[in-house]
Amino acid sequence: MTHLRLAVLFGALLCCSAAAQTIPTPCPRPAAVAPPAAEEPSPGADTDASACRLRLTGDLAVASSVAPIAGPGECGGDDLVQLEAVVLSNKSRVAILPPAMVRCTFAEAIVRWVREDLSETLRTLGTSLKSLDNYSSYNCRGRNNIAGAKLSEHGKANALDVRSLKLANGVVVSLTDPRESRSLRESLRKGACNRFTTVLGPGSDGYHEEHIHVDLAERRNGHRMCQWDVREPAEESIAEDRVPLPRPRPRRGHG
Ligand SMILES: [Zn+2]
Repeated sequence: MTHLRLAVLFGALLCCSAAAQTIPTPCPRPAAVAPPAAEEPSPGADTDASACRLRLTGDLAVASSVAPIAGPGECGGDDLVQLEAVVLSNKSRVAILPPAMVRCTFAEAIVRWVREDLSETLRTLGTSLKSLDNYSSYNCRGRNNIAGAKLSEHGKANALDVRSLKLANGVVVSLTDPRESRSLRESLRKGACNRFTTVLGPGSDGYHEEHIHVDLAERRNGHRMCQWDVREPAEESIAEDRVPLPRPRPRRGHG
């Protein structure tokens, strides 16, 4: 190797900007050096993430994996997540409180509901959504908590019960309260019924007077159920004046 080549090599080692020869300047970090590896998944975790979960945890949601649940009976599912928050397009988060344990495909439906319906509707009203109240998600039980009834979609981690929404200003919007804005509740009802195959609320079967149930049950002929009466305050006061009647037996035993 000639002296000239050695000098060039030495110069390159000292400094990347060979033009300024007087004072060697620090070289920038070589681009080839990879940044430290992100947290390694613990053995067995996340290595077989479903395509659904990869879509979900990209930019759309904060959701951790849940080990598959098999039984008892038909309960459980393979691709379960703990849905902790929905990430909006402006990167703000809508918390699911407490986090909902649901199958991934249902979590995706919730994420789209929150992003495209709930937060959009509230944005047009000049406010924003802070959190969604999860009243019930995965729960291995019969419909309407009746032992021996057909398995609820909650038992398949394919359903969510929501009582209220919390806004950024701290206001809590109860979905079934007739004193809340009627147009807001009608808008929310319409969005939910377009998106989910089952929506049950006040007036459905007596079990959903104080929360809204949504699920993605599959039925023959694509039949859908949208049973959520958006009530007027007057209707409630009339109902309260009546002698309380025993709860009707559910006609179809859903929920
Ligand atoms: Zn329910």
